[in-house]
Amino acid sequence: MSGRYETPGLSCPALHLPPAQGGHRLLSWSSPRRFERIRVVEWTCHEHRVTFYEFCEAGGLAFIRRTVAAKGKTVVAHSDAWRRIEARSIWIDVLSGMAR
Ligand SMILES: [Zn+2]
Repeated sequence: MSGRYETPGLSCPALHLPPAQGGHRLLSWSSPRRFERIRVVEWTCHEHRVTFYEFCEAGGLAFIRRTVAAKGKTVVAHSDAWRRIEARSIWIDVLSGMAR
């Protein structure tokens, strides 16, 4: 026995997102922009989820990067970029299912 729970995800320390809530805010996703340096601050589970999100900071702004990995293909999209404090509250909404 490995000592880990058998149920996938149960022992996972990463964030598992709840499903989007009714009436959630729809973010606009576009193809990744180039930033000189991106700092990934927080992320959701990418072991047990085909779609995961990362909270990224770059050039004084922050945005959310969404990665969908399905059928051997990885599609990356960026949200709009906002001031950090604004991006932070949108990130919280994403985590709680109030925005996607
Ligand atoms: Zn997980």
